Amino acid sequence: MLHLENIHKTYNLGTPNALHVLKGISLDIHEGEFVSIMGASGSGKSTLLNILGILDNYDEGNYYLSGRLIKDLNETQGARLRNELIGFVFQSFNLLNFKNALENVALPLYYKGVPRKQRYMLAMEQLERMGLKDWAHHLPNEMSGGQKQRVAIARAIVAQPKVLLADEPTGALDSKTTVEVMDVFRQLNAEGITTIIVTHEQSVADTTQRIIRIKDGNLVNS
Ligand code: ADP
Ligand code: MG
Repeated sequence: MLHLENIHKTYNLGTPNALHVLKGISLDIHEGEFVSIMGASGSGKSTLLNILGILDNYDEGNYYLSGRLIKDLNETQGARLRNELIGFVFQSFNLLNFKNALENVALPLYYKGVPRKQRYMLAMEQLERMGLKDWAHHLPNEMSGGQKQRVAIARAIVAQPKVLLADEPTGALDSKTTVEVMDVFRQLNAEGITTIIVTHEQSVADTTQRIIRIKDGNLVNS
């Protein structure tokens, strides 16, 4: 499902501030896997996840997603593939604060051109599934961290992506809420979606099927 060959990424390439962050990452993640990526702060976890999620480009190597070479895309091409293939969840939720939960979840469907009525129907289904039906018309700042993250997960999966990516999704949550949110990921994965979670918490990584470790820009053999 995801195939990386010798991926390199350098920030500020060609300047005195150049920072070689990924130094030849090769990796395969198969359809239906539940994987975590671990590593120290600054080791390149977010950089790698952003490349996987078509949020950023890489300098060298090849990345194939769902059989397609993801390389040197412009903004429009990247956005189109991202909408079609990827769901992304962030540590800080990244919800729109002036839109309610239902509107936030429906947003990816707007970009896909789904008609309004159907957008809200599908978004409501996802909120129900997250146990948030009664919160559909609340704004994010009226909700707890765990609720906001479940809204963000509902938004990430509403357009039925092939891959669900999460960058430290429990980083802002207490331990009880962390367990609840990881349960949501585990269940979504059990329903078939390939899921990749960046974390620096061993207890979070331990709930996944495979742990990938990154150190000094390379994967550590485990
Ligand atoms: P992690 O997520 O593992 O903490 P990151 O991938 O965010 O690590 O960052 C890896 C390194 O790249 C860090 O040294 C960070 O400061 C640097 N970095 C990240 N993003 C940028 C950027 N846009 N421009 C320059 N340097 C960056
Ligand atoms: Mg990070």
